[in-house]
Amino acid sequence: MVGFPMPASTLLTFLNTGNPTGLKFTVEHGGRRALFDFGLEHAPGRAPFSMGLEPRPGRELADLLAVGSAPRLDGVYEGWDGRTAVFITHMHLDHTSLVRFLHPQVPLFYPAAMEDLRSAVEASGYLAWRRPAGTPLPDRRPLTWGEIEVTPVSVDHDLPGATGYLVRTPDLFLAYTGDHRWHGLHAESTAAFAEAARGADVLVQEGVLLEPPAAAPAAGALPPLPRHSEHDVALGFGSLLESTPGLVVANLYPMNRERVALLAATAAARGRRLVMEPQAAAIAGRPDLLDVAEVKADPARFAVQLSFENLPTLIDLAPPAGSVYAHSNGPPLGRFDPAYQVLHAWIQGLGLGYAHLGSSGHSWPADIDRMVRAVGPGLVVPVHSRTPQALRVPGVPVLVPEVMRPYTADELKA
Ligand SMILES: [Zn+2]
Repeated sequence: MVGFPMPASTLLTFLNTGNPTGLKFTVEHGGRRALFDFGLEHAPGRAPFSMGLEPRPGRELADLLAVGSAPRLDGVYEGWDGRTAVFITHMHLDHTSLVRFLHPQVPLFYPAAMEDLRSAVEASGYLAWRRPAGTPLPDRRPLTWGEIEVTPVSVDHDLPGATGYLVRTPDLFLAYTGDHRWHGLHAESTAAFAEAARGADVLVQEGVLLEPPAAAPAAGALPPLPRHSEHDVALGFGSLLESTPGLVVANLYPMNRERVALLAATAAARGRRLVMEPQAAAIAGRPDLLDVAEVKADPARFAVQLSFENLPTLIDLAPPAGSVYAHSNGPPLGRFDPAYQVLHAWIQGLGLGYAHLGSSGHSWPADIDRMVRAVGPGLVVPVHSRTPQALRVPGVPVLVPEVMRPYTADELKA
């Protein structure tokens, strides 16, 4: 095929800076293009297709393109341009939702450690995936795409199989953190990524939890949610079970398999069974399904995973006095989502207690700083953030990128 630009120097272009979600970018060199992540922005109440509006069956991609939710990109939807390969960091929908629309010939790569979860999510009907499914990449094994070398290096996030990528071209060394954290159960994995990325020319840094330095709460604003580590969540769940005489309901996010398994074990140690909705159980890889009559007959012997969509099931479960709803990182994720108030209306309406039992999958602000210092890049590019300009690390220049503006290696290294 002809007509492609053939950059002699590497070009870095953000199709979506992910502010706050939906990050996608390309690295081009010598006629080849590597595209990183391919999800949909999660913006309930702001995105055209949200608040119950869905792309219409049979014309999903056309609908998403028409409203700007999917990027207009040649060579990946209708056919393959022979030069673009797609690399996915992890299974979260803001990184994967558009994968299903990739043309079957587009080379598609994702971390091998993600495969169990990916196939369970696809089989459960939660998220459609491209056929053929693509190629799982072994951790830390470099893959060459033309003169672009791409190496997945695992990081800790709140689901299995998350990775960052190291990208080397003849004139640029770029490290992309992917979504990651330092307060999870595998901080050593994130630290090892930082070590492998040391000295990169450019660090593309996830900054979901970045906040402005002097963020004064607006008058009348609710206090921020407390920050818990993943370890705190397991401990908190144990004490919640001990202090709750009735039913415990949690909006567990089923892709967080490790937390689900940990909470199931914590519940079992206290004489309770964690039961889940069928699709959530399939995603989490768990055997115990919710049987409403069984739980209603003896609520003190159960903990129930319940999604937002199934809140009316609470009516059938008839939680007795002394029952508690625990928010554990399932949707609605926070106050930015209009559904959050709806959730609280259910909690109040049914007289449930409330507990916050969450731990973010993203680095805390001090840990974002820690990552940048540990990598020591020539330039840091904050992305996937409401306030990317809040990233300031002494001695490290910051570039808040513009959408669809190609940056040359020379510019990035200047
Ligand atoms: Zn994520």
